Amino acid sequence: MAWDFSTEPEFQQQLDWVADFCKNEIEPLDLVFPGAAYSRNPKAKELADPLKQQVKDRGLWALFLDKDLGGPGFGQLKLALLNEILGRYRSAPVIFGTAAPDTGNMEMLAAYGTEEQKRKWLYPLMNQEIFSAYSMTEPQGGSDPSLFKTRADRDGDEWVITGEKWFTSAGAHADIIFVMCTNGMFVVPRETPGLHIAEYPALHNHIRYDHVRVPLGNLLGPEDGARVLAQRRLGGGRIHHAMRTVAQVKLAFDMMCERALSRQSHGKVIAEHQMVQEAIADSYAEISMLRLLVLWTAWTIDNSSTQASRTQIAACKYTMSKVLREVSYRALHIMGSLGTTNLTPLQAMYAGAPTMGIADGVDEVHKVTVARNVLKGYEPHAGLWPTEYIPAKRDEARKKFAGLIESDPDLAAWADTAARATARG
Ligand SMILES: Cc1cc2nc3c(=O)[nH]c(=O)nc-3n(C[C@H](O)[C@H](O)[C@H](O)COP(=O)(O)OP(=O)(O)OC[C@H]3O[C@@H](n4cnc5c(N)ncnc54)[C@H](O)[C@@H]3O)c2cc1C
Repeated sequence: MAWDFSTEPEFQQQLDWVADFCKNEIEPLDLVFPGAAYSRNPKAKELADPLKQQVKDRGLWALFLDKDLGGPGFGQLKLALLNEILGRYRSAPVIFGTAAPDTGNMEMLAAYGTEEQKRKWLYPLMNQEIFSAYSMTEPQGGSDPSLFKTRADRDGDEWVITGEKWFTSAGAHADIIFVMCTNGMFVVPRETPGLHIAEYPALHNHIRYDHVRVPLGNLLGPEDGARVLAQRRLGGGRIHHAMRTVAQVKLAFDMMCERALSRQSHGKVIAEHQMVQEAIADSYAEISMLRLLVLWTAWTIDNSSTQASRTQIAACKYTMSKVLREVSYRALHIMGSLGTTNLTPLQAMYAGAPTMGIADGVDEVHKVTVARNVLKGYEPHAGLWPTEYIPAKRDEARKKFAGLIESDPDLAAWADTAARATARG
């Protein structure tokens, strides 16, 4: 039987270990020393590095990468199951070597990098010796790449990059930045002269590239190949976000259910009020739908490719922001006044829902992708009536039984009565 929703026991053991490890090691670190996993401070490294080593010892480091690139080669489906746990904890993706934006950039390097580029950037990124950022969006428009203007001009044995980028996440802390130009994808060390980072936004940086010079070898993939590389990069990034969103909504759901069983109102525990039950029932169904969509998409990527799974990835993208918005709102609401504070994770989760609908492409654009691709499998009907127009279908079907209808008056009457019954307007 090919359909199987079970997890193989050996991997389940790994997942159980991950759940304990995150709860007992990563969550305390997040609560007491937030940001330690990302920090270059030697004291922070002393706290985080031994945890990263434990992950490596378990063979779970950089789970998204194939074996020949230094990952365990488990594929996207297993990564999805892992991310359903990691997504609950702020620094878990870094401690497991699977954090954005580095993962997408590494996938791009792995797919398109030369041996020299992999040596220079991919392996150091995998080992977190360096960190990266991705510079695509421009201030004048993010959703439509045809509006982008940043370009690279060849000058002798260098490329000269000129343009402006907006919302480059972690750009100010990255060692290298992948810059999408109209004529190619380029790797730019952050310290390169001419690269100016504006004061704000603080986390997602506004960067001006003013005649930034990089060697010819910093072009990644073919000249004019930026859009193809961007699709490769963003597809992987989106599905990873969706996997972690499943973790977030499951956390919200756990909190909602615990609260429903703990709080009394009007003579009974609130879990016994039907509108609270409706919130729980709707959330359960929506989370299950999102989760199955994400797992199915991950399975499809493993069995074909990221490119071939574009429609499903796009569907995950806007479904996750919707489910996150709905479920985190219900959980926050059931938590009452406490839910509106930052004393539980719910307020930040709910506030993050709009971001999910914008980052990595706005929901509308992904819906357009899905609708366009789905419609390729359809054709307009011939003639005036839709294919499922019952009188036409019945006339066709009657031909199959013509002999019977002619020879048996009872069957003829039955067929005529059925025809009249469905002919009512
Ligand atoms: C937290 C966060 C992190 C990010 N990190 C990065 C990063 O690291 N690197 C990077 O390059 N970018 C990054 N971005 C930018 C992100 O990719 C863009 O914000 C996104 O592509 C949308 O572009 P925009 O903000 O210019 O919105 P716009 O393109 O101006 O869109 C605004 C609104 O217009 C409407 N709209 C736009 N196009 C259509 C359409 N075709 N059909 C219908 N309606 C439409 C939608 O309502 C949309 O929400 C990040 C964004 C966020 C929020």
